[in-house]
Amino acid sequence: MLQTTKRSDSPVSIIGAGIAGAWQALLFAQAGHSVTLHERGDAAMTDATSHWAGGMLAPWCEAEVAEPIISRLGQRSLDIWRRELPDTPFNGSLVVAHPRERNDFERFARMTDGHRRLDATALAEIEPSLEGRFRDALFFPAEGHVEPRRVLPKLHERIVAAGGTIKFGSDVAAADLANLHPKGIVIDCRGLGARDEQPELRGVKGEMILIETSEVQLARPVRLIHPRWPLYVIPREADLFMLGATSIEAEDTGVSVRSALELLGAAYAVHPAFGEARIVEFGSGLRPAYPDNLPRIGVRGGKISVNGLYRHGFLLAPALAELTLSYVERGQIDNEVMQCA
Ligand SMILES: Cc1cc2nc3c(=O)[nH]c(=O)nc-3n(C[C@H](O)[C@H](O)[C@H](O)COP(=O)(O)OP(=O)(O)OC[C@H]3O[C@@H](n4cnc5c(N)ncnc54)[C@H](O)[C@@H]3O)c2cc1C
Repeated sequence: MLQTTKRSDSPVSIIGAGIAGAWQALLFAQAGHSVTLHERGDAAMTDATSHWAGGMLAPWCEAEVAEPIISRLGQRSLDIWRRELPDTPFNGSLVVAHPRERNDFERFARMTDGHRRLDATALAEIEPSLEGRFRDALFFPAEGHVEPRRVLPKLHERIVAAGGTIKFGSDVAAADLANLHPKGIVIDCRGLGARDEQPELRGVKGEMILIETSEVQLARPVRLIHPRWPLYVIPREADLFMLGATSIEAEDTGVSVRSALELLGAAYAVHPAFGEARIVEFGSGLRPAYPDNLPRIGVRGGKISVNGLYRHGFLLAPALAELTLSYVERGQIDNEVMQCA
């Protein structure tokens, strides 16, 4: 439910240039606000969780395990991605399974909508590399995907083009910014870095592997039904594929042998030619999550925090930025996502 309170034209400081902060900065700058985006890392963004993400924009697939709010905000985000970055690929996504995971595949089909079933021939028509590989597949035609390491710099460029300022190497505290601009607004998008003020945040480790081969071509992410994790292969530019992602309640970094075996095994199961691919990179990121795994916009006076994007940062960030902007400009409150002190 939406309520109206107030409007503000104050300068806006955003902390954290990951996917959450980048979308906040872009929408606020485009709306004519004076925006400064502070990032403690450099422009390569390797310290951000966003650097390690798959970048799938998959609100219908995610509905298998996520709350309805993720689908609602995710579908809204797809419209914003299309509007702001029209070259975002919306080639859909595929879900496939081995015969032994048949029951889980059928369950996935029942738990989700927005898909149609492809037989082996129809699957080979849209993904020729998968000819003869699977009896059938679920096709989610409206879903998209982005390449995080390309899309973050693109968003940063767009922020500057819209009149915003980005300061890399700027490790700031919200309290200092509030003292500097007493009438300003601070939007804290520090991800796990915000734990000093929000101890309930935790990191959920996601491991990924980047491989390279010219033997397989895919136009869209392919998810393989797996008893423990939704494993997937995402095509990147230049013959690269990202294999992801585990979901582990741990905050160490690195990739375990067991996870590597499962990720590489999933790729091999999608296509045996992946067995000949070159391994380019192993890596992991910590997804910032609240205990309920749901995103939250917290409002306390002129300080707003946007966090808990968990497995859905790329999917949710545009819609969360739109909600924050609506709150600042028109005082609109979305009670499902916002908590006002
Ligand atoms: C393996 C993996 C796969 C994933 N796949 C997907 C997917 O397919 N689709 C999807 O939607 N999501 C996916 N996610 C989830 C997504 O990556 C996260 O939800 C998202 O990156 C969180 O973004 P964020 O901006 O909140 O945090 P971050 O990306 O961590 O950004 C926070 C930034 O704040 C900066 N910072 C911290 N403290 C300060 C300070 N004091 N001053 C200045 N800057 C500061 C940090 O340096 C960092 O750059 C995946 C995650 C992982 C790990």
